[in-house]
Amino acid sequence: LRVLVTGGNGFIGIWVVRFLLEQGYTVLGALRSLDRGKKVREYFAPYGDKVQWLVVEDITKASSEGAFDDAVTKVDAIIHMASPANVFSAEPIDFVKVAVDGTTSILRSAVKFGTQVKRVVVTSSCAAVVDRSVKQPAIYNEENWGDEVINVPPGKKAEDLHPIFHYTVSKVLAEKAVWKLYNDHKAEIGWDLVIINPPLVLGPTLLDPKTPADLNASLVRWWDMTSSEKSDDDLKSTYAYVDVRDVATTHVLALSTDEAGGERIITSSGAITYQETGDVLYTLRPELFASGIIHRGNPDVDKTVSINYDPAKRKRIFGDTYRTKEVIFLDTLADFQARGWLE
Ligand code: NDP
Repeated sequence: LRVLVTGGNGFIGIWVVRFLLEQGYTVLGALRSLDRGKKVREYFAPYGDKVQWLVVEDITKASSEGAFDDAVTKVDAIIHMASPANVFSAEPIDFVKVAVDGTTSILRSAVKFGTQVKRVVVTSSCAAVVDRSVKQPAIYNEENWGDEVINVPPGKKAEDLHPIFHYTVSKVLAEKAVWKLYNDHKAEIGWDLVIINPPLVLGPTLLDPKTPADLNASLVRWWDMTSSEKSDDDLKSTYAYVDVRDVATTHVLALSTDEAGGERIITSSGAITYQETGDVLYTLRPELFASGIIHRGNPDVDKTVSINYDPAKRKRIFGDTYRTKEVIFLDTLADFQARGWLE
């Protein structure tokens, strides 16, 4: 079976392409440019023509110009992961426009021309799930939506807010647009939809970052969390995590698992505070703290998690095989260490 993949040169995407190929799928990968896909093209060169690349320079124009119209006729399934995620980029990014228009354009092509397509998997985010109207500590599930977070706080201007705000809005609005398009066309299409909602994705990268700043945004955030001094308030803050290999495996399984059809699925392994992260790392690899690069934080702060995600649906559909925080943290650190960043 042949899969059209967008975002295949990203942190999550390269693992997805690898697992697709290992599972015997063939891949048609869309890149913004051949140059931006240099690493990934080299990495998968041993697979020969089992993986092919096409260039879609501007995914937001794809609908009107039909950039995906031809590609969707050649595949049995689509995995759409491309979306601006670099919230630490120095360049200004129109997160909402690219996320919403990019996502709807490929789906419109699938509606019109994807006659062989049986399933479409779209990567959303837990950012589209966090419902600020629920009192914390909160445990969110797939019924929750980030409707509140798309509002600009009173007295603020959207253009002054951090890119994380715009990224969050982009993920909420893109996922909403996908469901609307799918529901509007359900009667006339031969495919069904699976939405994957990961929290902060960690784990080893198959890309080639030279410095921590070259990592994708979730790993940059985790690097910063573990390697810089934090205030007690920051140390108390909670995040949910998942391993990139588990998220990638889930994208691949989502193509072939019947029960996943028509579902929105949160793919979280668990939640933890920044401080508890430091405590776990200290237990696992105390020797790494000697160089002073990884910080101990303040072990006395309150470590109660304020948000978490109910894993019931993903366990029911995909089983309970996700990596634990210990494995995820150890493997992420080992990857940083192998790159010489912890000396
Ligand atoms: P990366 O930044 O590594 O990958 C982003 C991918 O999107 C790249 O392939 C990138 O291609 C592509 N992309 C970005 N902007 C554009 C654009 N304007 N036009 C075309 N393609 C574009 O991030 P991740 O691998 O972490 O993210 C992949 C997906 O997973 C995203 O949808 C993200 O929102 C989602 N996600 C990620 C989480 C995480 O913690 N990492 C958590 C939840 C969801 P290019 O190289 O050309 O920029």
